[in-house]
Amino acid sequence: MLFELKTVFLNEDCEQQLNYEIDLSDIDIDGVFPFTSPVAVTATARNRAGIITLTLDCGYDYSRCCDRCGEPFCRREQKSFEHGLAQELADEGNDDYIETPDFTVELDDIVISDILLDLPQKNLCKEDCKGLCPVCGQNLNSGSCDCSARTVDPRLEVLKQLMD
Ligand SMILES: [Zn+2]
Ligand SMILES: [Zn+2]
Repeated sequence: MLFELKTVFLNEDCEQQLNYEIDLSDIDIDGVFPFTSPVAVTATARNRAGIITLTLDCGYDYSRCCDRCGEPFCRREQKSFEHGLAQELADEGNDDYIETPDFTVELDDIVISDILLDLPQKNLCKEDCKGLCPVCGQNLNSGSCDCSARTVDPRLEVLKQLMD
């Protein structure tokens, strides 16, 4: 999606917004296609005293299997990314700014790389996922198993006291 920004560049305190959707359902990550809904993008460009910033608010469903317990999960993500825009870069090696010599910016590649770079290293169904029992494979989020109960049953403890 091309974002036309001439008005923003030429007028201080000007703001312009664009809403659109981008389909990432064909993006393959580790053999799965986690973007199960189109990404809803709100792009906002602002001119503050001649400094142009581009904010990308992205909302999307992210579906994966948990790295610990293996259960599938789907999470609604809402991420915000910000970039500086410059008509011409003073320093070629400056990655902080996106060069926009013709006052337009092609949003798709920026949105895609922002989202992909921001993906978590680990996919967990929840922060404190207990995972699977390494002995019997029981999903410890849905209940404990006999293997983990080996830490002295309170009933046995009472019995032991009676026998003493
Ligand atoms: Zn899990
Ligand atoms: Zn077990």
